[in-house]
Amino acid sequence: MSRVPLFLIVFLFFSCDQGQTKKVTNTTLSTTNNTPKKVKNIILLIGDGMGLTQISAGMYSQGNKTSLEEFPVIGLHKSHASNKLVTDSAAGATAFSCGVKTYNGAIGVDKDTMAVETILEKARKQGMKTGLVASSTIVHATPASFYSHNKSRKNYDEIADDLAQSSVDFFVGGGKMFFTERAETRKDLYQSMRSNGYMISDFFESELKDITPDLSKKFGFLTANKDPLPVAQGRDYLPLASEMAIEYLDAVEDKGFFLMIEGSQIDWGGHANNGEYVVSEFVEFDQIIGNVLDFAEKDGQTLVIVTADHETGGLAIQPESTMDSLQYAFTSTYHTGTMIPVFAYGPDAEIFAGIYENTEIFYKMLQAFDFK
Ligand SMILES: [Zn+2]
Repeated sequence: MSRVPLFLIVFLFFSCDQGQTKKVTNTTLSTTNNTPKKVKNIILLIGDGMGLTQISAGMYSQGNKTSLEEFPVIGLHKSHASNKLVTDSAAGATAFSCGVKTYNGAIGVDKDTMAVETILEKARKQGMKTGLVASSTIVHATPASFYSHNKSRKNYDEIADDLAQSSVDFFVGGGKMFFTERAETRKDLYQSMRSNGYMISDFFESELKDITPDLSKKFGFLTANKDPLPVAQGRDYLPLASEMAIEYLDAVEDKGFFLMIEGSQIDWGGHANNGEYVVSEFVEFDQIIGNVLDFAEKDGQTLVIVTADHETGGLAIQPESTMDSLQYAFTSTYHTGTMIPVFAYGPDAEIFAGIYENTEIFYKMLQAFDFK
C-alpha cells in the first residue's frame, strides 16, 4: 500500500521537474529568438583533396582525435563539374565562390566563360573585410576562384593581375614569381599593388613572423617563389598566416569579414599517392581548424565551414592497418567523384546539414550573410 503513494510522489516530482526544465529551455529559446545571433563573419576552410578517408587517416594518426569532432553540424556535397563527373580544383572552388557549376579549369566564370561575382566580391561591396590564405601559390585555382575571373586556371600572369586590382584585403601564399618575374610587356606588380593600397612583401625580404601588418593598408605576403614546400620539409607559415588574417580582419572593421583558408597540399599528397604526405598536411590543417574554432567560440558571431573541393587519390585504409601503422592504397593519381563532407559551426550552422550540390555552399553562405 505504501508503495503506490511513494511512486505517485516520485512521478509528480519528475513531472514537475520536467515542467520546470522545459520552461527554462523555452525562456532560453525565446531569448535567442528575440535577439538572433546574426552571422558577422564567415571563415571557410578548404582542405583541397580532403575526402573522408584523408580525414580518417589524419584522425587515427593523431590518437583517434580531430578538431572536426567539435562540429555540431555535418553535411555532404556533390562535387561534380558541369562537363565532368570528377571535378578539378578550379570548378570545385568556383562552385563555392560563385554558386555555378562550371567546367574544369574555370576560374570565377560560368560554363560559357562569363564572369560571375564571387562571395568575396559581394562581401567587399557590403563594406566587409576579405582575406585569403593558402599553402599553394596565391594564384592557384582554389584561392584564385575567389578574386579572379579567367577562362583558364593556367593563365597565372592574368590571375596575378586580377589580384593586384582586387578587393582582397589580406592574403598570404606562394607564387612571388607571378608578381615579379613577368614578361616585359607586363608591369612589375609590386609597384601597382603598392599604388592600389597594398603593403606587400615576401619571404626574400623577411619572415612573415617578423612583419606587423599596417591596419590602414591592404596586406599581401608571398611565402615562396613558386610552390611552397610541404609541411614535412619545413613549411610552417599556414597556422601563423591564418592567425594573422583573423587578427587583421577582426581588428578595425565592424561590418565583419569573409576569410578563406586553404590546406592546399593534402591534394598534392594524394596526387603523389603518398599517405604520409596527405596525413602530415591534414595534421597541420586540423590544428588550424582548432585555432579557428577557438576564435569562433569566443566571438559568437562567426560561422565556420570546413569542406573540400573533391577527394584525391581514391585513398583507402587497408585491412592490415593498425591505429599506429596505417597501410594505404590509392586507386588513382587524380581526383575521384565521391561525395565530400561539410562541417559547420556557429550561427546558422544548421543550414549546412543534409546532402546537396557543391554550389549550395555559396547560396548557404549568402543566406547566412543575409545578402540578396
Ligand atoms: Zn588536385
